[in-house]
Amino acid sequence: MPQNALEILNSLYGYDSFRGHQAEIIDHVTEGNNALVLMPTGGGKSLCYQIPSLLRNGVGIIISPLIALMQDQVDAMQQLGVKAAFLNSSMSHSEQNQIEQQLLAGQLDLLYIAPERLIKSYTLDLLDRCTLALFAIDEAHCVSQWGHDFRVDYLSLGLLHERFPQIPRIALTATADIRTRKEIVERLSLTGANSYISGFDRPNIRYAIANKTTAKKQLLDFLKQRKSEAGIVYCLSRKKVEDTAAWLTQQGFTALPYHAGLPAQLRQTHQKRFLRDDGVIIVATIAFGMGIDKPDVRFVAHLDLPKSIEAYYQETGRAGRDGQPADAWMVYGLQDVVRLQQMAQGSDGSEQFKRSERHKLDAMLGLCEVTGCRRKVLLNYFADEAPNQCGNCDNCQIPPQTWDATQAAQKLLSSVYRTGQRFGAMHVMDVLQGKETEKVLQHDHQKLSTFGIGNDIHEAQWRSLIRQLVVRGLLRVDIEGYSALQLTDLCRPVLKGEQSLHLRIEEIKAPSAKKAGSKSARKSQILPEDQELWDELRECRKMLAEEHNVPPYVIFHDATLKEMLDTLPTSETELLTITGVGESKLEKYGGDFLDILRRYTEVS
Ligand code: ADP
Ligand code: ZN
Repeated sequence: MPQNALEILNSLYGYDSFRGHQAEIIDHVTEGNNALVLMPTGGGKSLCYQIPSLLRNGVGIIISPLIALMQDQVDAMQQLGVKAAFLNSSMSHSEQNQIEQQLLAGQLDLLYIAPERLIKSYTLDLLDRCTLALFAIDEAHCVSQWGHDFRVDYLSLGLLHERFPQIPRIALTATADIRTRKEIVERLSLTGANSYISGFDRPNIRYAIANKTTAKKQLLDFLKQRKSEAGIVYCLSRKKVEDTAAWLTQQGFTALPYHAGLPAQLRQTHQKRFLRDDGVIIVATIAFGMGIDKPDVRFVAHLDLPKSIEAYYQETGRAGRDGQPADAWMVYGLQDVVRLQQMAQGSDGSEQFKRSERHKLDAMLGLCEVTGCRRKVLLNYFADEAPNQCGNCDNCQIPPQTWDATQAAQKLLSSVYRTGQRFGAMHVMDVLQGKETEKVLQHDHQKLSTFGIGNDIHEAQWRSLIRQLVVRGLLRVDIEGYSALQLTDLCRPVLKGEQSLHLRIEEIKAPSAKKAGSKSARKSQILPEDQELWDELRECRKMLAEEHNVPPYVIFHDATLKEMLDTLPTSETELLTITGVGESKLEKYGGDFLDILRRYTEVS
């Protein structure tokens, strides 16, 4: 076993250098200290406890809430030649026995265990009899009662510090605002521990948010450029999940539904196929995703608006953990806004709670409507600094045009007023555009002074204006009253001409996402002349994955295959220089890939 952290990184993992705070954290924990680690998804948290576990005497205990994913983590470590195992309720008695024996004999480097299991006195007694390297508490934000992932078993993890005071503890999470961080420190008794807070930026994710017109067609346009890539499509309701999955399947995609209403067995099968097969799209409610650490998710698409920036950040964060270009794509419309506003108002919480929900929603809507850089808004929300332009979001790539909407807004608002604040968006638009519909005639609205004064503007633009006024609180939608539009106090200055409004022009066919999308897709695409070799490398990976019964990315990541494609190594020494190729994987798979690469370089 290599003696220092860098040697382990090079020879075991096949990586050149540490990222961000990794080296400091590893040193600190290896020396026996506690730590709190906040790092964005894909930042490389696992190494921060895996390497100290290998460097210190004894076994590292990894506490993780997701039994379903332990298998994959253990598989990945075993591929590297590390002695890793897990203990959970999915195992038979004799399997558990076997692991316990290995544990007691000091034969394990890493043991993954669920919190509810760990805190049983039987398990604690078992651990008393072992040499322990450390405790790693993964997804540490689950201890927070404020957060959305609270797990009651996490609360008991405070006992580790009393029971094993000499053993270092490292708590890790990707999502924790300042309040949650404080709570983690208190509940896990980490007072005085070093904290390592990395920024929230995910530079490889490209953000794009567009006006919802024909959602399915918009999604299709987006997906057409991503054939055979793995991704997640989030929808709000179970029904929409099923409809969308069925429809995508019809369109020739491999799309599988996932929501809490499906039988557990089927859910598991779908999750497994998503993890193991190439290019599967999972269409899901937010029930799907926590702890999914598939590195090569190439896009996350939202067909409905999440209710806060935290939720959006966490869901989109599942894309591109491998650091390769990935897309976060969303469409949203007036209905989304109204539904979420209603949810925030209608919840049974206290006034303070409602205010905070409303505040979160406003921040989310701000991100949707902003005409400047989206990444900046996102990062500022988490109190991270950011440059004015990131160059990798829709607004930076194609700056949206704005228009002086003051006059149009006045027309719209007075039309709402003159029709008695009793009608929905459709009817108000009909009046503005001078359409003599049955409803218009029935109410004599063709006689109003605002009838037909809005012909200069396209219907889609009226629709977007209404949405933007609702978002800004100048109009409200009365859900109980047939979704009638109503004026609020905020609209007075605009009506009186004391305040002007500059709003974004929505491109009617929403081409911005499409144009820019093709650009980012190109970045990650393979040149036509390389396609054949690329396919062969992937095929080889797939066969090895099947043979070893692990997901393809456990063999090698896309980035590793791509580096092979770019540098064409033909010897073991050359292959070892590639990121992601360590000694164990070289021995196991090097030969198969070298055969392909050699054959290819001889021919060409
Ligand atoms: P997190 O748990 O923070 O989301 P992971 O620990 O799963 O992230 O790491 C994400 C990916 O980046 C993994 O495939 C991991 O092997 C890889 N990785 C981590 N650290 C490094 C590094 N220093 N150099 C190259 N790749 C790394
Ligand atoms: Zn930007």
